[in-house]
Amino acid sequence: MKIGVLALQGAVREHLRLLEMAGADAVPVKRAEQLADLDGLVIPGGESTTISKLMHKYDLVEPVKRMAEAGKPMFGTCAGLILLAKRIEGTDTHHLGLMDIAVERNAFGRQRESFEADLNIRGVADNFRAVFIRAPYITQVDDGVEALSEIDGKIVAARQGHLLGAAFHPELTDDVRVHAYFVDMVKESLQVPTV
Ligand code: GLN
Repeated sequence: MKIGVLALQGAVREHLRLLEMAGADAVPVKRAEQLADLDGLVIPGGESTTISKLMHKYDLVEPVKRMAEAGKPMFGTCAGLILLAKRIEGTDTHHLGLMDIAVERNAFGRQRESFEADLNIRGVADNFRAVFIRAPYITQVDDGVEALSEIDGKIVAARQGHLLGAAFHPELTDDVRVHAYFVDMVKESLQVPTV
């Protein structure tokens, strides 16, 4: 099983390390041709506008969308979650627009630009020490999306079928449980008959 990490900007190496710890082969992805080989893709944190610009520059937007539409699992963290969302509060645009959620960027305010919190992530992990850095949160989940975790009533993780999103950075800890959950999603997707 081979999982790619979109390697245009942001926390790439950290995701590669955690995916390997969770038992997957993990590779950095910079070109659309690489996607065909992959069973799943992680879109890391960083700066969503920058990652989006680079995705356009390297013609990755449509190929990544097609990969998701083909049912390959994707996991977006922080900026990656923003890239997956269909709606971004305060704008009329979205980036990949794959997940039926709305997000608000930098949503925890200046006083809490970065912080850690213990999360219960339903079906994934209890007492997960989560690192938030200028994090978004999910303001709305539409039908078919399951909110998996909240902090102060704000949704910070969600799943919609083969798409997983987290407002925090599970790759910045040594706790492999969230990545292991994603690796399981990829394993399950490989078991689905293709006919
Ligand atoms: N604030 C960033 C954005 O809006 C996301 C921060 C992160 O990925 N750590 O893109």
